[in-house]
Amino acid sequence: MSASEVPTPGAETAVERRVRPITCSGCSETWTAVSAAHCGSCHRLFAGVRLFDMHRSRDGEHGTCLDPETVLGEQGQQRLFFRDGMWRGPELTGEQRAKLAKVWGGEAGDSIPA
Ligand SMILES: [Zn+2]
Ligand SMILES: [Zn+2]
Repeated sequence: MSASEVPTPGAETAVERRVRPITCSGCSETWTAVSAAHCGSCHRLFAGVRLFDMHRSRDGEHGTCLDPETVLGEQGQQRLFFRDGMWRGPELTGEQRAKLAKVWGGEAGDSIPA
């Protein structure tokens, strides 16, 4: 896992200012976060490809989409949460945010390390 995969509040807004909306040929959804993953089957939008993978099940000939609310972790905890127009991982605590800001040297989002 690289630092750029860590969900950062505000990161998408920085990207949104630079890119045109991305669209889907199968639904009316548009989004601007380049790291987002849109499902061509159930047309849900995920903040990242790892979150997208979590909602896919191997059941059925071509796999199945799970309701993200039913995707649970090892301890039975909910892993996907719908916020700000897309499915995201658990919200960071203030402590985690402070840690990230420190690692990334201040304003996280505009200066994501490669
Ligand atoms: Zn899906
Ligand atoms: Zn779609």
